[in-house]
Amino acid sequence: MKSICPYCKSKDYSIQYPTFDIFDNHYEVVKCKDCLAYFLTPNPPEELLAKAYDDSYYGGAEDDEKFEGFIEEGLNYFRKQRAKKVASLSKNMGRVLDIGCGNGQFLEQVQLFGHIEIFGTEMEGGSAGRAAKIKSLQLQIGELKSDDFEDNYFDVITMFHVFEHLKNPKEYLSVIDEILKSKAYLVISFPNIDSWQAQFFKGKWLHLDPPRHLFFFTPKDFKLLMKQRGYELVEEKYFSIEQNPYGAIQSWLNLFHKKRELLFESLKGNKAYVKQISPFVLVVEKLLFIGFTPLFILLDVISSVFKKSATVEFTFQKKA
Ligand SMILES: [Zn+2]
Repeated sequence: MKSICPYCKSKDYSIQYPTFDIFDNHYEVVKCKDCLAYFLTPNPPEELLAKAYDDSYYGGAEDDEKFEGFIEEGLNYFRKQRAKKVASLSKNMGRVLDIGCGNGQFLEQVQLFGHIEIFGTEMEGGSAGRAAKIKSLQLQIGELKSDDFEDNYFDVITMFHVFEHLKNPKEYLSVIDEILKSKAYLVISFPNIDSWQAQFFKGKWLHLDPPRHLFFFTPKDFKLLMKQRGYELVEEKYFSIEQNPYGAIQSWLNLFHKKRELLFESLKGNKAYVKQISPFVLVVEKLLFIGFTPLFILLDVISSVFKKSATVEFTFQKKA
């Protein structure tokens, strides 16, 4: 059976390179000939996606954090920087919606920068449960739907590394068109399939993250798509200490193992996944991770100049 492009539903595609997921299912990464999105064939089935999003994805059920302490602290710093930027886009007031808000910590940070009403959507699960405990957060559980919010309602909508997970991305963009005020902002980040990392590591690239990442656009194609939808590009940011160096290191380590993302899964506390690997190897990999981070940060500075970093964050402004 022919696979379907998750963005435009076309069945016309060209094969790029093979890949495999953490359950050892094999796929081809293909490129849609109609909308130019990259996606997986066969399309990952529903049951597999449910398995890929079980509680271990977000960190253990009782534990509030996705990663070990020192990494989580670093992530807090970057979360705060993002929050500051988003708050300033909304002029430190108004309404901010974070689609795929996780445990809601980012929105809590946004609120610290002004009199901002915070809204979030998240799929049912442990993260949504934690977000629901934040009293000032107006949380919508499940997929974003057109009648969830009033038209022309939000000053800023954010989607950080969420877009590539969506089963109906085109519908999401349509809803965003409706609920975003005119001249308001959309901040969206996703992996860069046109990055040097993607080109070099291909199927073993960390940010390919099969089966969870369902599709990718190159930055160039996505900018064109948003222009056609009536958005003006305000900023594009490729350099990211938060996303890119660890992507390089884990992809590089992936070249030496049959299983992918061993260090990453071990840092997340996924003990079952790494049980056949000797603890010694994992310690060595952790040391390599720490030791090589400065080098890969430097490489990311260089890649970002050429717009070839592993991830991209766009800020668009809705025109009318
Ligand atoms: Zn397509």
